[in-house]
Amino acid sequence: MQKLTSRAVLIDRSPMTFGERVYLPSIVKGLGITLGHIFKKTATTRYPEVKRPFSPVFRGLHILNRDEKGAERCTACGLCALACPAEAITMEAAERKPGEENLYREEKYAARYEINMLRCIFCGFCEEACPKDAIYLSETIMPANYTRESFIYKKQDLLIPDPKKTENK
Ligand code: SF4
Ligand code: SF4
Repeated sequence: MQKLTSRAVLIDRSPMTFGERVYLPSIVKGLGITLGHIFKKTATTRYPEVKRPFSPVFRGLHILNRDEKGAERCTACGLCALACPAEAITMEAAERKPGEENLYREEKYAARYEINMLRCIFCGFCEEACPKDAIYLSETIMPANYTRESFIYKKQDLLIPDPKKTENK
């Protein structure tokens, strides 16, 4: 019979031999494959007890950084949101008031900063675009959750703890 396409496979319809009818050779062959796999190096990991090492280029949850004095580095310039291909970042800028110099590094800061992790593709473009070294992607895997709202990470979820407050504890 002539094949219609190069991908067609002709089915062998000739009667089965005695060996094929008793299935024994196929069973022995299958057992051989199973035994062969038993002695192979295991590829599975008993997560979460055992964790595989991350790739050096792994990008996990975002972190909003502070400077060495504990002030927020983000100036709400919007470059990260502009660079984000998934349009996952939204923010609102605010003016720093007198007396807030210890809280915010520059005159402008992000009063609201949110990342929608359901949109984020962890490309790291926001980190690359930031001129203030204010955002970076950590090695933390984003935890699973049950509601869509829980994937909208707000500023307080992203900001690293204030070292001054941590010291006073
Ligand atoms: S990692 Fe990429 S997709 Fe996620 S917020 Fe940053 S720029 Fe957007
Ligand atoms: S994280 Fe960086 S790029 Fe994004 S708004 Fe703040 S300072 Fe600008």
